[in-house]
Amino acid sequence: MAKKKREDHCSFCGRTEADGATILPSPAEDAGICLDCLEAAAGMLGMLDSPDETGAARRGRANNRLRNGMAADGQTKHKKTPTPQEIKAFLDQYIIGQDQAKKYLSVAVYNHYKRLDQPADTDGVEIEKSNIIMVGPTGTGKTLIARTIAKILDVPFTIVDATVLTQAGYVGEDIESLLTRLLQVADYDVARAERGIVFIDEIDKIARKGDNPSITRDVGGEGVQQGLLKLLEGSVVNVPPQGGRKHPEQPMIAVDTKNILFICGGAFEGIEQAIAHRLNSNFVGFSTNGTNRRIGRDEYMRHVAPQDLRTFGLIPEIIGRLPILTHLLPLDRAALRQILTEPKNAITKQYEKLLAMDGVKLVFQPEALEFIVDKAIEYKLGARGLRSIVETIMVNAMFSMPTDKPKVFEVSAEYCDRQLKDAHFDAQAV
Ligand code: ADP
Repeated sequence: MAKKKREDHCSFCGRTEADGATILPSPAEDAGICLDCLEAAAGMLGMLDSPDETGAARRGRANNRLRNGMAADGQTKHKKTPTPQEIKAFLDQYIIGQDQAKKYLSVAVYNHYKRLDQPADTDGVEIEKSNIIMVGPTGTGKTLIARTIAKILDVPFTIVDATVLTQAGYVGEDIESLLTRLLQVADYDVARAERGIVFIDEIDKIARKGDNPSITRDVGGEGVQQGLLKLLEGSVVNVPPQGGRKHPEQPMIAVDTKNILFICGGAFEGIEQAIAHRLNSNFVGFSTNGTNRRIGRDEYMRHVAPQDLRTFGLIPEIIGRLPILTHLLPLDRAALRQILTEPKNAITKQYEKLLAMDGVKLVFQPEALEFIVDKAIEYKLGARGLRSIVETIMVNAMFSMPTDKPKVFEVSAEYCDRQLKDAHFDAQAV
């Protein structure tokens, strides 16, 4: 019997076009598939349970399912959410100090995921979403905390700088672009992206400028806040999968932001004045000895409240959508010294590991560590500067050790000083 040609029949159910089947062409000579069988196969992969999904999203989700396997109920597998204490203990391994922020975030993240797992509303109690805002000077660990949390939870995580966002139609990135990035790190698995975490850095930079934004167009300020509000509130947003404006023809992917956790961070430079102003006026009348209570500048940070963010220029609606407010404190000398050696991936540990791979035992003398901290303080580089200082100190050693292979290499304060001078570090740092 002559073979039926591919356009004649479906290789799975055997029906022909004469039976009313629509056969899809295939590069194989004698194979074909009808739309009904294709749909059944897609159904088996769970690709059809979200009718809003576009092709790119479906493909991504199918790939993920094939790669990760499916849970028995057909849902993508999720790691069990650790308890707040477990999250905090994990954060402690990487982040020095900042106890309040770590605690608040641990609780908020735990509740967020509990909320995701809550059964359909039966008792009328709906756990509301708790986005987070962290206020604290730059380089004190805001991004590090958010990043470390994402690591333990195994959810897609992305960092977006609020300063690049502008209102649609202006130069810069559309607000939806932050969801594009989340989709990309989730491999276009929409369901995974919809449980992800977005860290919006420098949220203070989109504060409303001045009291009368209508005089000059405030495209990077209140307009962006309004746009962000939509995402924070939870809504279905059409997201360009390749990012905004370069590919205007691309089909959009619908992403529901209801369950995405937003963590915002900002230095809010000068917010202490707003806090001080509020506290002093509040304290008048309460003090027992007739004088206003005096507290140090850093101490003010501990009293940061939503109204201070408002004074700073965040709109009340945004503040209302960021109900968890926590602060980070400036890092003192002792904290910087700890950061150098104690976190699980401390910079000195990284160098020790690198050289151990070449058979060299690297030892930082205690005076060398003190010297490095002194330089970070002297040049006002904070924790971020520790890395650049150590890198400058180590570059010559890293160049020669793999060839020389001494058994031990000791780094002294004097060696550090010489390396920094030779590299003219003081000229770079100022
Ligand atoms: P922020 O987001 O507050 O500006 P980052 O979290 O990006 O600051 O911190 C910059 C770097 O400084 C981090 O990658 C980390 O190496 C170091 N660092 C800052 N704060 C801490 C901290 N509290 N504990 C450990 N390392 C820290």
